[in-house]
Amino acid sequence: MDDCLFCKIARGEIPTAMVHETETTLAFRDIAPKAPVHVLVIPRAHYANVAELSAADPALAGEVLAAVEAVAAKEGVRDSFRVVFNTGTAMGQSVFHVHAHVLGGGSAGFGAV
Ligand code: AMP
Ligand code: ZN
Repeated sequence: MDDCLFCKIARGEIPTAMVHETETTLAFRDIAPKAPVHVLVIPRAHYANVAELSAADPALAGEVLAAVEAVAAKEGVRDSFRVVFNTGTAMGQSVFHVHAHVLGGGSAGFGAV
């Protein structure tokens, strides 16, 4: 996936504010945060969306969720946060490499991301 933005981030070709890394996942701050805590969690491997990931590799989908928990704990929002996987353009997906938005801090006022 030569031209995928998040594959480039996973390969270290684009600098990001890294929050958490595992062998199979990474987490970095959203460049345009919609909440006080807004971190994106991705598998290093390329899948277009959460449905493709979960169908092809449910264990990796679980590792993404484990990374979500680690990020929420590190960011101090483990008791109160939101996870969003936009899937498809109609739901606002703009980068077609699966990513969990981890949103927290403050009230639940932030909706769509
Ligand atoms: P989505 O619209 O659900 O596909 O989410 C894509 C997210 O990626 C948006 O919230 C963008 O702000 C974010 N984003 C785009 N480019 C970058 C980047 N270089 N580093 C971090 N986040 C990015
Ligand atoms: Zn990709």
